[in-house]
This record gives sequence, structure tokens and C-alpha cells, in this order.
Amino acid sequence: AMTRTTTQAMTRTMVPTGQAALDAREISAWFGDRKVLDRVSLAMPAGSVTALIGPSGCGKSTFLRTLNRMHELIPSASLAGEVLLFGKDVYDPGVKLTDARREIGMVFQKPNPFPAMSIYDNVVAGLKLTGGRARRAEKDALVEECLGKAGLWVEVRDRLRQPGGALSGGQQQRLCIARSLAVRPRVLLMDEPCSALDPTSTRRIEQTIHELAHEVTIVIVTHNMQQAARVSQQCAFFLAEQGTPGVIVEAGDTKTIFEAPSDQRTADYVHGRF
Ligand code: ADP
Ligand code: MG
Repeated sequence: AMTRTTTQAMTRTMVPTGQAALDAREISAWFGDRKVLDRVSLAMPAGSVTALIGPSGCGKSTFLRTLNRMHELIPSASLAGEVLLFGKDVYDPGVKLTDARREIGMVFQKPNPFPAMSIYDNVVAGLKLTGGRARRAEKDALVEECLGKAGLWVEVRDRLRQPGGALSGGQQQRLCIARSLAVRPRVLLMDEPCSALDPTSTRRIEQTIHELAHEVTIVIVTHNMQQAARVSQQCAFFLAEQGTPGVIVEAGDTKTIFEAPSDQRTADYVHGRF
């Protein structure tokens, strides 16, 4: 327990300073009686990309879901700890769930646009889901802006009325990013957004992430170490050893995590020796 406390304390100070968009403090998570995260702390600096890496089952997706309160939708799930969004407690009883979701968007591994709905309506749907309204001209402008930011506008501008499901996998994923952006989130959580995509689509999404990060803070889970190295400025290495709950072994700037990690397990993982 002593070692873990020390590791956690280091995690906090090693992440570069600058305002944290999200600050997760001592997050523990359970499914029923089973603890899957143990006091995970991580500050995710604004205007940058933080990559969460680590083997399957170590709690990366669970950690992401605690950040935007999706975790509490799972009936057996519970949690302890604090999540601050630009200093404001996401779990404060006074914060409406829809507001938390609007400010912290999420994109999943499998692109999930509404397949029968038009490309245009898919983007606008993001607004409707959180109770937002807009006039036609505003919607037109929003659709162009969000598709543009997602790097999809040029490809679909002439077929906005076609169903979202008619797009390729990579285009569908960029459509999902555009839909997320429609509510102007402050943070975008991405859970292995490229795992189902080919290398070309993957690079296209990485380019989008790179361009977006200036205005939307991004937290991305990835199993692709080259991708983590390419897109992120910070990395957190998660691990759940021998049935113990997941912890962050080490977090810090990406260059350090890849080139001079302080924990041997981090070095082994990033160099594919796991
Ligand atoms: P990762 O994303 O790093 O692969 P997860 O967060 O998905 O890890 O899972 C962490 C642990 O929690 C795993 O042991 C997994 O089996 C368990 N788990 C995940 N989701 C659920 C759930 N809905 N119900 C019960 N256990 C779950
Ligand atoms: Mg996962």
C-alpha cells in the first residue's frame, strides 16, 4: 500500500503543469464487490492529448467512463473519488448529468452513427440529445463547422442527405467525432477510436485529433504505441497485476514515458515485451 501511495503521489507531480481540464483524484471503481480501479489520480492538461495505455482489462475504459459519469449507468457499478472539470466537481449533486455529458463528449471503438439518419442529421442529433435547439441557418453552419473540424466536410458536402451508415468505417468515425463536437464539449474522451479502422483511416483520425487538441482537450485510450507516441503529449500507463485492481504505474510526458520511464514495467510495455 505504501508503494502505491508513493506512485500515486508521483503521478500527480510528474504530469506537466498548466491548467488541468480534467483532474481525476483518487478514483476507485467497483463492479459489484470487485474492485477494478484503485485510487487512480491523473491530471489531464487543457489543450493537449493525454493517452491512456496498458494491457486489456486494466481499467482504462472504466476510468474513461468515470470521467463523464457513464460509469454510473452500469447497474452493478460504484465508485469513489473526485473528478474536477476545470476545477468544478463533475459529481456535485448540483451538476446535471446532461451538462456533464455535454461538456465531456465520448467517441467509441466501433463507430456508432445513427445508420439510417442522414449525415446532416447525425451531426445535429448531438444537439438534440442534450436538449439544445437551433434554427436552420445555425444548424447549417454548425454542420459545416463540425464536419470541417472532424476532417470530413470536403468528402461529404455534396451528400449531406445520405445516410450515415453509407459512409466507410473511417468516415463514420469522423462523423461520430463531428456529432460529439456539435454540443461544443470542453473535453473529448476517445476509447480506442482507431482499433476498428485501416491504417489510412487511422492516420486521418490522428490528424483530426492533432488539429482538435488546441480547442478540445483529448483523452485517448490506445493499444497502438506508435499512435500514443504520435498523438499525445502525456501518457498514463495502467496496469492490473495478478487480479489486483488497476492502478497507474507511471504517468508523465510522452517522450519520458517512451524514452526514459522510471518503472521497468512501463519500459517493458511500451517496447512490446508484455
Ligand atoms: P480496459 O479498458 O483496460 O481493457 P476495462 O475498464 O474494460 O479495461 O475493464 C476493467 C475490468 O473491469 C476488467 O476486469 C473487466 O472485466 C471488468 N469490467 C468491465 N466492464 C464491466 C462490467 N460492465 N461489469 C463487470 N465487470 C466489468
Ligand atoms: Mg477498454
